Amino acid sequence: MQLETPSLPPAEPPDPTRAWSTDRRPERPFLSCVLPCYNEAANLRVLLPELHAFLQQNFPRWEVVLVDDGSRDDTAQVLAEWSHLPGFRALLLSRNFGKEAALTAGLDATRGEAVVQLDSDGQHPLRFVMAMVERWQAGADVVYAAREHRDDESPFKRLGAGLFYRFMNLGSPVQIPNDGGDFRLMDRAVVEALKSLPERTRLMKGLYAWVGFRTEALP
Ligand code: UDP
Ligand code: MG
Repeated sequence: MQLETPSLPPAEPPDPTRAWSTDRRPERPFLSCVLPCYNEAANLRVLLPELHAFLQQNFPRWEVVLVDDGSRDDTAQVLAEWSHLPGFRALLLSRNFGKEAALTAGLDATRGEAVVQLDSDGQHPLRFVMAMVERWQAGADVVYAAREHRDDESPFKRLGAGLFYRFMNLGSPVQIPNDGGDFRLMDRAVVEALKSLPERTRLMKGLYAWVGFRTEALP
């Protein structure tokens, strides 16, 4: 029997979504913002005008992806109003799937060179976004806002968080930082890596750590 030598596939064209070098990073990226929204109508009425002004002032190209996670208040209506404005898009989930699923749906819909995830309750100050972009331009693939303390949380929640990270990270080669949340900027390459993961029941913090990349904490 004669073995056939498989012919090599043709060379693939370069993939523009890969960010192994920082050469291509402009000072101001095409920025996507993703906001998962669950019963946030009142908060969004305050936050969206601020976000709109912030983006127009600082970024020549931007988009906002709003995800209604099956809210029971007027969130869908607020999103419908805003989605008429250029740059704003709304996704309406058919029921409440939880924040991780809403974030995933939002990330899948982004097209920017860099993506920032924000809570829609106004908990994540927009002024940190500029510092995140600077770190991105200097070469970081992920910049996450790191808590300096947990003084604002109850002792019960602090204990729970402590135990959670202790057990999750026990003996694991992938360590989930215990000071970070979803407020973060990610390069397009990181978003593509997250999009390629098949997990349906997702712990985003775990997946951020799992995909790797050059990650920096912004205190
Ligand atoms: N959220 C969501 N689905 C949910 C719960 C929350 O999309 O089932 C959104 C919520 O509207 C907010 C973000 O996820 O924009 C984080 O939620 P929350 O502020 O309640 O979390 P915490 O600040 O306590 O981490
Ligand atoms: Mg919150």
